[in-house]
Amino acid sequence: MSDVAPAARLPQEWLEEMSELGQPRYRAEQVFRWIHQRGELDPNRMTDLPAELRRLLSERGLRPEAEILRVERADDGTRKLLVGFPDGGRVECVLIPMTRLAEIDADASAGDDDESETETEPGPVQDSPQASSPVRVTLCISTQVGCAMGCVFCASGRAGLKRGLRADEIVSQVLLARRELEAGEDIKNLVFMGMGEPLHHYDETARALRLLTHPSGGGMSPRRITVSTVGLVPALERLGRDFGGKVGLAVSLHAPDDATRETIIPMNRRYPVAVLVQALRDYPLPRRRRITIEYTLIDGVNDRDAQADGLATVLRGIPVKVNLIPMNPVEGSPLRASPPERVEQFQSRLARAGYSCFVRTRRGSGVNAACGQLALAPELVALGRNPARTSS
Ligand code: SAH
Repeated sequence: MSDVAPAARLPQEWLEEMSELGQPRYRAEQVFRWIHQRGELDPNRMTDLPAELRRLLSERGLRPEAEILRVERADDGTRKLLVGFPDGGRVECVLIPMTRLAEIDADASAGDDDESETETEPGPVQDSPQASSPVRVTLCISTQVGCAMGCVFCASGRAGLKRGLRADEIVSQVLLARRELEAGEDIKNLVFMGMGEPLHHYDETARALRLLTHPSGGGMSPRRITVSTVGLVPALERLGRDFGGKVGLAVSLHAPDDATRETIIPMNRRYPVAVLVQALRDYPLPRRRRITIEYTLIDGVNDRDAQADGLATVLRGIPVKVNLIPMNPVEGSPLRASPPERVEQFQSRLARAGYSCFVRTRRGSGVNAACGQLALAPELVALGRNPARTSS
């Protein structure tokens, strides 16, 4: 029997399983579809399977494990889901409806092909869209319970790393989030920008990507998926090789020089700016696609004119778009966002240097769902307790 968790198996592995169970080959595809297309993990509800096979699947450990423990809704329609696993591990994921203004912003990132926008470029709340126009939703998912990277401006790593998620646990966030969609909403983009460092946990992340993009599974185009990384170079190279550059890439650069970057991102000591930037140059990006450079603007730390100019210099020649994120407040941290004039000045310097550059406005902050605010709150760490599901 495969040691891969049942819900994390790829079709080929299901074929092997079916052959071990003495079942016809087509059952493999059937079960795979039940899980990834219909989000059904309870064999007893897979109504077109023979009772014997349902029993065998249950016996071999196929069962729903992840559950939504809480949904919090911000005024802008953003919903933060708390997802729990049987061992008490908890992660958060965030559904972010794209407002119309956001889509205009996204279009303004000219040069990308139409399908390529995988970032949320949110704007102010819009009036409710017509029933006829589907609402594109971006789903932000987590890959680890906690995080080991220790970036000083981010809440997710405060309590360190508890554990990585298995591929099926990563995917379960998508399956569960689908159930929370409102009329007319559709998950268009998936971003690996929740808790954790996806490339610190490469094998499970890569398997999750395969499950999500398999035509009989999640069926998502890899172009609609963006993996965000602090810059773990060897895994970044692997991602490029394994997926031919088709999966969108976002890199948390946050400073153009080692002296600054080191003070906010410990991992910079292992992979300094020059090494990381070279890996971006080498990433097998398809034509007309761009790498997203994430840059959290922190007052007095990385928001000087000289740093904007430095950024323009180090990125020269790489197809990128720059996402500026005024730092979201993190409890207990003295660091804060650059003032709006600084943000504007930083943006216009980059724009003048020829970069397309957006300011990512805050979404979901009323429920602490903005970038860097997904944290291991005490109740998330409390193992084994299932807080009652609430919807606020
Ligand atoms: N580990 C991955 C993905 C997680 S965070 C990574 O580092 O890219 C997604 C983005 O939010 C990253 O660019 C991260 O640096 C940024 N971020 C973290 N804390 C933030 C904060 N307090 N304010 C604004 N952005 C933050």
